[in-house]
Amino acid sequence: MRAPAIEVRAVTRHFRQSTGLFTAARSVRAVDGVSFSVPTGSCFGIVGESGCGKSTLARLILGLHPPTGGEIVVEGQSLQAMDRRARARLIQPVFQDPFSSLNPRRRIRDIVGLPLAAQGTNPAQRDRQVDAMLERVGLSAEMGGRLPAQLSGGQRQRVAIARALVLRPRIVVCDEPTSALDVSVQAQILNLLAELRRDFGLTLVFISHNLAVVEHVCDEVAVMYLGRIVERAPTDTLFRAPAHPYTRALLASVLTPEPGLGIPDVGLGDSYPDPANIPPGCRFHPRCPIAEAGCSERDPSPRALDGREVACHLV
Ligand code: SF4
Repeated sequence: MRAPAIEVRAVTRHFRQSTGLFTAARSVRAVDGVSFSVPTGSCFGIVGESGCGKSTLARLILGLHPPTGGEIVVEGQSLQAMDRRARARLIQPVFQDPFSSLNPRRRIRDIVGLPLAAQGTNPAQRDRQVDAMLERVGLSAEMGGRLPAQLSGGQRQRVAIARALVLRPRIVVCDEPTSALDVSVQAQILNLLAELRRDFGLTLVFISHNLAVVEHVCDEVAVMYLGRIVERAPTDTLFRAPAHPYTRALLASVLTPEPGLGIPDVGLGDSYPDPANIPPGCRFHPRCPIAEAGCSERDPSPRALDGREVACHLV
C-alpha cells in the first residue's frame, strides 16, 4: 500500500508569549497533540474559528516552524530531518493575501523563478519554466515583466500559485487561499486549484474558515478547537451529519437551522476562548450546549465512530 502523503503524529506547538515588560510570559498551546494522515492525491480540509491553531498547523506541515513535540512525516520521510531545498521540492505554500506574499519591487518573472534560482537552475531554463507555468495558471508570458501592483487580486493569486508549483512539488498547503478575493474571482481560483490538483496529481491541505468552500473542494475535513482536532470525517459525512457539538455549532453558524438536517441552533457567541488559558477537562465544555458535570474533569480522547473520529464523551 502506498504511504500517505502526510502523517502528522501527536504534534504539538507550544510557545511563550510575552505580554509586556512587567508581566510574566504566557504559555500558548497553539497545536496540542494533533494526529492525522492525508492520502496521496486527496484534499484535506482544516476548519475552525480564528485562533484554533489551523494556521500554526499549516506552518508546521510546511516546515516553517519546528514542532515542540511529535513528528511530521512527508512521503515517508521525517520533515524535520529534511534540508530546506529538499522540502521546497516536495511541499509548497499558497497563502491568503497574494499582495503581501509577493515582493512589490520584483517583477513577476523573478518572483515565480525564485524557487528555481534557489535550487540552482540556470537563467535560460528558469525563464522557460516560468513562462510555461505562468501560461499554465492562466497568465501570459508578457505579464512576467510586470510588478505585483500592476495585476488584479486574482492575477496575483495566480502568480502565487505559479510560484508554488514551479518546482513541481507533490504537496501544496493552501492557507485561506481565496478569502482576500472577490466572490467571482474565488470560484475561478478554486477551479484552477482543482484542475492543477488533477493534472499534477497534487495532494492539497486546504485551510479555511469558509465552510462552503471546504465542502466544495475537500475529500476529508478536520475540525479544530483550541489546538486539537475534535472531529475528522469524510466531507459528505461531516456536512450531512456533524457529530461533535462544536462541529454542529460551527455548521449552525453558517446554515439555517433545519430539524431535518439534524443541525441545531446552538450558537457559539462572539468570544473565542484564550488559547493561553485552556479550560480543564473537555476544552469545549464552557460553550457546549450538552455538557455534563464530568465534561469539565475528563479530557475526551478521539475515538472512531461510524467512519469518522470524534473527541466527545457523549456522542
Ligand atoms: Fe460537550 Fe462534554 Fe462532549 Fe465536550 S465531552 S463536547 S463538553 S458533551
